[in-house]
Amino acid sequence: MFLITCPYCGTRDQSEFSNAGEAHVARPEKPEDLSDEEWADFVFLRNNPKGLFAERWIHTAGCRRFFNMLRNTATDEILAVYKVGETPPRVSTAEPATPSGEAPIGSGNDAVKVERPEGGE
Ligand SMILES: [Zn+2]
Repeated sequence: MFLITCPYCGTRDQSEFSNAGEAHVARPEKPEDLSDEEWADFVFLRNNPKGLFAERWIHTAGCRRFFNMLRNTATDEILAVYKVGETPPRVSTAEPATPSGEAPIGSGNDAVKVERPEGGE
């Protein structure tokens, strides 16, 4: 359980919010030109890093508006909250030690190109 600060309403309990997945996923400009594989990638594939991640959230039990959040998924530390359309602020976060054998935090899946928010590592 933690607190989230809605950019429109202020700080509220996490139970009022819903995670809506990865932020900054751009729709294809010409979807009719995409192959079936490219369309499937757009619809189904998302990054899922351990560490700094830009997420879209919605204040479902409040203003019902979407906003973006920079969160360290390894620690649940919320680093920034900003409105949709705004540029992600520069942030830094500690990377806790991982048990032996794990990939470095934030490395994600090597088979997927990883786009990091500005200032992300
Ligand atoms: Zn709100």
